[in-house]
Amino acid sequence: MKQIRFVYPFEEADSTDRQLLGGKGAGLARMTQIGLPVPPGFVITTEACRQYYKAGRRLPAGLMDEARERMKQLERQTGKAFGHKTNPLLVSVRSGGALSMPGMMDTILNLGMNDEVVVGFGEATQNLRFAYDAYRRLIQAFGQIALGAEEKRFAELLEAAKKRLGAEYDFELTVEALQRLCADYKRVIQDDLGTEFPQDPWKQLELAVEAVFRSWEGKRAVDYRREFKITPQMANGTAVNICTMVFGNMGEDSATGVAFTRDPGTGENVLFGEYLVNAQGEDVVAGIRTPKPIAELKTEMPGSWEELQRIRRTLEDEYHEVQDFEFTIERGKLYMLQTRNGKMNATAFVKTSRDMVAEKVLKAEEALLRISPDHLEQLLHRRIDPTADAEPIARGLPASPGAASGVVVFDADEAERRGRTGEAVILVREETKPEDIHGFFQARGILTSRGGKTSHAAVVARGMGKPCVVGAEEIRINDRERLAVVSGRSITEGELITIDGGSGDVFLGEVPTVEPEFSEDMKTLLRWADEIRTLGVRANADTPEDAALAREMGAEGIGLCRTERMFNAADRLPIVRDMILSRTAEERRAAIDRLRPMQKADFKEIFKAMEDLPVTIRLLDPPLHEFLPSLESLLLEVAALKNLKSHLEHGNPTPQSLSRMLESAELSDLPAIERLRAEVSAARDGGLIDELLEQKESVLQKVRETAEVNPMLGHRGVRLGITYPELYRMQLGAILEAVAECVQEGVNAVCEIMVPQVTEPNELLRVGELLDEVRAEVEAQHGSRLDFKFGTMIEAVRACVRADAIAERTEFFSFGTNDLTQATFSFSREDAEQKFLPFYVENGLLPQNPFEALDIPGVGRLMKLAVVSGRRVKPDLKVGICGEHGGHPRSIEFCHTVGLDYVSCSSFRVPIARLAAAQAALREKRRSKEEREHADYPFNVL
Ligand code: PEP
Ligand code: MG
Repeated sequence: MKQIRFVYPFEEADSTDRQLLGGKGAGLARMTQIGLPVPPGFVITTEACRQYYKAGRRLPAGLMDEARERMKQLERQTGKAFGHKTNPLLVSVRSGGALSMPGMMDTILNLGMNDEVVVGFGEATQNLRFAYDAYRRLIQAFGQIALGAEEKRFAELLEAAKKRLGAEYDFELTVEALQRLCADYKRVIQDDLGTEFPQDPWKQLELAVEAVFRSWEGKRAVDYRREFKITPQMANGTAVNICTMVFGNMGEDSATGVAFTRDPGTGENVLFGEYLVNAQGEDVVAGIRTPKPIAELKTEMPGSWEELQRIRRTLEDEYHEVQDFEFTIERGKLYMLQTRNGKMNATAFVKTSRDMVAEKVLKAEEALLRISPDHLEQLLHRRIDPTADAEPIARGLPASPGAASGVVVFDADEAERRGRTGEAVILVREETKPEDIHGFFQARGILTSRGGKTSHAAVVARGMGKPCVVGAEEIRINDRERLAVVSGRSITEGELITIDGGSGDVFLGEVPTVEPEFSEDMKTLLRWADEIRTLGVRANADTPEDAALAREMGAEGIGLCRTERMFNAADRLPIVRDMILSRTAEERRAAIDRLRPMQKADFKEIFKAMEDLPVTIRLLDPPLHEFLPSLESLLLEVAALKNLKSHLEHGNPTPQSLSRMLESAELSDLPAIERLRAEVSAARDGGLIDELLEQKESVLQKVRETAEVNPMLGHRGVRLGITYPELYRMQLGAILEAVAECVQEGVNAVCEIMVPQVTEPNELLRVGELLDEVRAEVEAQHGSRLDFKFGTMIEAVRACVRADAIAERTEFFSFGTNDLTQATFSFSREDAEQKFLPFYVENGLLPQNPFEALDIPGVGRLMKLAVVSGRRVKPDLKVGICGEHGGHPRSIEFCHTVGLDYVSCSSFRVPIARLAAAQAALREKRRSKEEREHADYPFNVL
């Protein structure tokens, strides 16, 4: 049997194999192979580590023989000998897995020293102090890591030594003090562990390799992997890097430092970093001395500075990425000790992407792939200042990104009142309802204690681009008392808070924030993305203002205009209520006739704002009760009015007692109450109260009539449109008149009419007949032919299954994946995110929240079925998505793969979707046909 090879010198290793060599080993190998000055060394592979564990924590047979052979080669390369008394080879033994786990595993330096070598080494370097300092560091690190001694025992001895000398810093210790420390350290090992510090360098090597392997399963490393969800597929075992020691602490011509090839904070193309003269790497980390900015190296060690400038370019040319590297200068000679991709902030990622393309370090395609959509997200919103030192008082779900500070208000009316005066307010509610919309307009941010990421508050706030935190359950809200309580602390109305919709954090007081940046760099990158992507990107926008913003963000149309938003506007809601409450057909028609011109004006404005681009208008979707007050509030109001009436009839009412009753009554109808208050005498007659009571009771009756056990599965969408045809007739008329008037005014309105909640082709047949009638009327009236498309939402499971038959009756499909997810799982989206989904995700029952990231094996599979069967009937069927998933990068990748024509998302996510769509196209291009057809391919759902 051919023995597996465990050891590779830097010159020979396959530097692209990070899994086998670990990140550090791969970097050292690559730098060696491209001619950068790396001290000679070799890597023991992660495979050896796995074998070590497989064999019950025993080094695999043959490993140390291979290592010894490589050590001999190192001796030849360096002209030194391991364990030699006068010319010793010293090595570092460092850990390094496939993914960086900074500081989580162990490293031992100066290996190869013993009581004799230290003397010879001191003589050879003519610096005995230096030699003993290196030796005491070895004994300590080896003692702790390889043998298991306690750190504090060494720390106490070091402190005592300094105290004896009256020294403040380690470097003030004399040779004698260091010699004594070495002896004391060895004694600690002997006394505490009953074992000797090994004098045999080969024994040291073996124990050190084993110690590094052990550190893979050390508590720190295991916790880190769990926290950052590093799976064995991502990194499995640590490699061991054995590298000739070089010393940055050999005098004033030596130094050690860390640097980035560009500034990771701004992205500027300058060498960025710090260094310390006459120091070892661990001194930089320990923060004992303050390092100098790297720019000073230019005057202090100009040769090394020049060399670093050359290296920085070589590294970027090689890796096509900003690098973060470590170096040491030993007596004027520069050595590279590590390199890895630099972690940068979002601004730097965007700037370096554009710059590196201009400098031809990267191709545009590579530049687009290296930016994560999250980076754009960060830049597009106001953020908490990263330097701010603030502790959150609660954390909810991050529902709509951005940070906002403002005073707490507990209802929409108050938000509107204060907001209009220019005060910054945060609307804080248990949950929000459509009737709170006016409060949203005036609020800087929204915080709810209930609801998930697709709750009303979340969807509306995202649509408006306002920061929103939902489901912050630790906060108990009592809006009657106008009080919120969190961890025993009360927050009263008017108190300042700050919310961060990107993290879900809630802070007391005002926390500093930084401005969003839609920089020229970002615009350039997005232009490149637009050239590459094949998937269209539209926006979900309900008003002319939203439409204008959508265009600004680069949307190529509106994929969803929810008409209910217009119904909820303050001037419409009373008319909508009249329509619902009407007792006769005439009354209803009168209300509808009042709504029609308003709707027409809305549509016209939107068409104008989106001229030449498609606008998909969805006919009314929600159940009617959403436009009526809640049953609870009506019951309270009716009870209060009855009480008031009885007080007037049987009590002894005075203006004061009436006023008091009005104060405490649970009445929401402010104008009516004001009238009552103003006319206490009229109230005494009972006339006004009777009128109000009658009104409320009739609303109550209607609310009872429209109440449903399961409203989201009830009388809504196309079902409502078919059973109340006046409603859809009015909307269709308003849309087509708006188109006709646009045509007359020379505006190119590209109209698409969309029917919600369709489950059966017959429904489309009915609406189509209605549409034909309305179209004939409007065309006759305007004397012109109207051009538009007629399509359907696909948001019911049956619609996916019957997609072929449905396709015969429509020109386009748009997946409503919010409802489709709900329907596929039979999870109520309002309840699931609150109750059990977090548990499911935390415990691995589901990989993520399916209302946020498209459930590809389930919902995705239904989508694919619908696309394939719809296009079989109608090959040019246009298909899009307008559920929340249309703005989620991985879901967008699926939409690309499955052949959708466009995604539609809130305007603020449009730039993210543009980037994600380009990335999807690039990734697909890079994958081979076999890969795409392979069973493990995540998007292979049918
Ligand atoms: C959907 O269901 O995905 C959708 C877009 O419609 P809504 O969220 O308005 O129900
Ligand atoms: Mg829907």
